[in-house]
Amino acid sequence: MAAKNGAFDPASDGSSRTVVAIVGGGFTGGAVAWHLASRLPADAARIVVFEPRERLGAGLAYDTSDPVHRINVPAVKMSIDPALPEHFAAWLDATGALSDDPDARADDGELYPRRQVFGRYVDAQVGPLVVKGLIEHHRQHVAAVERAGGGWYITTDGGETLAADIVVIATSHPSPAAPKMLASILEGHPRFVADATVPNALKSIRRDDAVLVVGNGLTSADVIASLTAAGHTGAVTAISRRGLRSRGHAPRLQEPHGDFSGRPIRSIRLLTRRIREAIRQAAVFDVSWHAVLDAVRAQVPAIWQNLPVEERRRAVRHLRPFWDVHRFRIAPQVEHALDEAVLNGRLDILAASVAAVSYHEGRIRVALKLAHGRGTRIRDFDAVVVTTGPAHGGILDSQSFLSHLAADGIIHADPARLGIACDMDSQALDRANRPVDGLYIAGPLARGTFGELMGLPQVSEHAKTVAGRIIALVEKEQAAASFSAA
Ligand SMILES: Cc1cc2nc3c(=O)[nH]c(=O)nc-3n(C[C@H](O)[C@H](O)[C@H](O)COP(=O)(O)OP(=O)(O)OC[C@H]3O[C@@H](n4cnc5c(N)ncnc54)[C@H](O)[C@@H]3O)c2cc1C
Repeated sequence: MAAKNGAFDPASDGSSRTVVAIVGGGFTGGAVAWHLASRLPADAARIVVFEPRERLGAGLAYDTSDPVHRINVPAVKMSIDPALPEHFAAWLDATGALSDDPDARADDGELYPRRQVFGRYVDAQVGPLVVKGLIEHHRQHVAAVERAGGGWYITTDGGETLAADIVVIATSHPSPAAPKMLASILEGHPRFVADATVPNALKSIRRDDAVLVVGNGLTSADVIASLTAAGHTGAVTAISRRGLRSRGHAPRLQEPHGDFSGRPIRSIRLLTRRIREAIRQAAVFDVSWHAVLDAVRAQVPAIWQNLPVEERRRAVRHLRPFWDVHRFRIAPQVEHALDEAVLNGRLDILAASVAAVSYHEGRIRVALKLAHGRGTRIRDFDAVVVTTGPAHGGILDSQSFLSHLAADGIIHADPARLGIACDMDSQALDRANRPVDGLYIAGPLARGTFGELMGLPQVSEHAKTVAGRIIALVEKEQAAASFSAA
């Protein structure tokens, strides 16, 4: 279609198909496309995914060749189809994809395959639809998305322009923002790794280098496990403001425990109190905190809706560091590598921030300001790795197409600055908070509205919901088109 108002060049195939353009083909974009192509007739919609990577569905998380990188959620909970939670586990069985990975099964009996294997699984679902032409994969980076008549023009770095009726933004994770002081002084240093998620990012680090890791979450855990596997023996200091380290999984799978949405909770203080109470009660029944936080996670959409905007902001400021390390757990194999490193004195985890950086006798001298007024510690390093995670707070400045949409008032950051503002239908909200026709936010960038939308089970559910909204729109358009043709 894409020519509803005559102002607009159709998808140049002259058909009445609705053109859906998905910007970003990581797991979210790949899953939205998969649902659309699986459920819509080919003559109803043209589905185009813009994604520079070779395969759809992998994205930043699963497009990694490092064998140490493992999924951090048991395989039985990771699926492209939320209706079939064990789809991935069944695929693993059917394909023998773990035959070369004896360590995939952890002591708790659950499978934590390599992340690249999950990427292959998603590709095995989406790829055949690409081959059949039901999904078009344009390996291009989108440079601009502009409103035109009743639709959108999408322009890529490679000079392609596509007219679309519906656009889905699924670009999710921007690069991390290195602390300014580190970046300004260490820029250009061969062992300053500003983004540890770039392929081969750790290659320049030598076996006995003393390494400073800035950040203590999942990426930090990946980095330390990868260095260990590569034979690194040097000292590693990992810092974060609170010195909290990502937690592991419970020794056995448990059902979520606790009710946090029956009685509305309107403040962070009350929420924290209820969580603490629930953890105490759970312990009586030999149920660990993991089950309580799983219950909180499952109820976050309801909890989040009940919190006033100011309380949401407070949650991001004060609760998030605690939430992140308890909610996003590391795979047991990675946890084991970290535990060993702590035990043998190679890894030192500190609650500290960088106070000063300089060069000293060819090494990187860092003054670490310890939390809680415990003074300053001076250490010399050979390498510095930033693992502070994607800089979602600056998402609108992270890419030209987003900054232009924001400058035109078509999108804006959500009030908690977790991503892009959208309504409960995942439709983008303009500067005046009105839903924007034909523009959807899919995946983690919609977190500000839904509260918790980062782990794969939730992202998978959201992709299906967004696809469902689009399918309803396409069906409506198609019905209107056939009515006017009749
Ligand atoms: C390193 C890492 C590991 C993770 N591991 C797990 C895990 O084990 N289990 C779990 O449950 N969750 C995990 N997560 C959480 C993760 O958010 C989700 O599981 C999911 O992968 C999110 O996928 P996505 O497609 O939304 O985002 P992304 O993976 O960020 O994909 C976005 C895609 O958009 C593309 N893109 C960006 N800009 C443009 C543009 N302008 N034009 C075209 N394409 C563009 C990028 O190339 C990228 O492929 C992990 C997250 C990270 C960052």
